[in-house]
Amino acid sequence: MKVLKFGGTSVGSAQRMKDVAKLICSGDQKIVVLSAMSGTTNSLVEISDYLYKKNPDGANEIINQLAKKYDKHIEELYATDEYKQKAKELIKSHFDYIRSFTKDLFTLFEEKVILAQGELISTGMVNLYLNECGVKSVLLPALDYMRTDKNAEPDPVYIKEKLLKLLESNQDAQLFITQGYICRNAYGEIDNLQRGGSDYSASLIGAALNAEEIQIWTDIDGMHNNDPRYVEKTTPVRHLLFEEAAELAYFGAKILHPTCILPAKLNNIPVRLLNTMQPEAPGTLISNTTEKGKIKAVAAKDNIISIKIKSGRMLLAYGFLRKVFEIFESYQTPIDMVTTSEVGVSVTIDNRKHLEEIVNDLKKYGTVTVDDEMIIICVVGDLEWDNVGFEARIVNALKDIPVRMISYGGSNYNVSLLIKKDDKKRALQALSDYLFNHK
Ligand code: ASP
Ligand code: MG
Repeated sequence: MKVLKFGGTSVGSAQRMKDVAKLICSGDQKIVVLSAMSGTTNSLVEISDYLYKKNPDGANEIINQLAKKYDKHIEELYATDEYKQKAKELIKSHFDYIRSFTKDLFTLFEEKVILAQGELISTGMVNLYLNECGVKSVLLPALDYMRTDKNAEPDPVYIKEKLLKLLESNQDAQLFITQGYICRNAYGEIDNLQRGGSDYSASLIGAALNAEEIQIWTDIDGMHNNDPRYVEKTTPVRHLLFEEAAELAYFGAKILHPTCILPAKLNNIPVRLLNTMQPEAPGTLISNTTEKGKIKAVAAKDNIISIKIKSGRMLLAYGFLRKVFEIFESYQTPIDMVTTSEVGVSVTIDNRKHLEEIVNDLKKYGTVTVDDEMIIICVVGDLEWDNVGFEARIVNALKDIPVRMISYGGSNYNVSLLIKKDDKKRALQALSDYLFNHK
């Protein structure tokens, strides 16, 4: 069994839905996970914002605009009046439901219900289209098996049990269609796996069924070795280790949600990134197999703040780092990078919500300096410490660029460097030239 996930742009228009249908119709039994059509979840967020602000007119305007778009999709997607009628009824029931929330008290609970409609609609539409084409697909309701526990973490035991039962009762089906992103929480209420969470759904389903492969279909031919928006001549990376992919996903490569890696890695299920626009291209394979000594890719994470705490009292002292880290913990602010010297420590954060309070508290322990508008550049590959030469190549590439922090040794898979935002393009290009294009 394979699990195939198609993101919002891959089902973003009637034509795209037809293309997806063509890709999934033939071959072995598979589970297809779909996102909402692109733009829909954003509109649902907007609708919810209006309702929180007690502005039903604003909400209704967005609802009407969105409903109109779907009317057009229906006209384009289905060939027969019979299926156009079925699809209209489907869309109407979802939009009537969304409208019902404009009249009442609006809380987080109602918001979650509204946010779930995008995936419920897209899967319903594709399933109807497949039926119109004569394909016997089965809709698997994610709300019947995808679930989080009391810590808001997915509950793998529950997911596996329910999913296996659903599959058992549909043994003859070749094709299952299901919603990404949406789930129920420990209390049975409708919830979701956070924005971009459809990748996570696919990975959790793959893990639950011990799938042969998890495929993430997008509109680019795999993970690239650098950011094509900033750098000329980037190329897709054919193979990544799970750890390398996790670093890249966390540090800026938008193609894959970072949460998707762990369930696949733990169950040793390969993840393949593929391109709907170019289905025959090999894409990127992510697995537990490493390629010795190879630098794979570069990614950048924006909006970073670095904070330096310098203190004579740190010299030969113990407990200093704990006190510093506790301050960040008390403001629920995660730290990304850390570098230390005998008399000071520098850390980076990307959440500036409590910056002022954090800096004030840190001042108890020394002189505090803050650098804003920084970025983290992350170089990823098999960077085992007894390989020689990779540090020199990275530093040499950046020889003309001021570097504020360098971090290596936390894992064997990445070297992180902190630089100014203004140097981003120059640094990424230089790294591509030196590491991949052999200048
Ligand atoms: N539709 C959801 C979002 O836009 C989930 C996803 O696409 O992965 O965030
Ligand atoms: Mg996505």
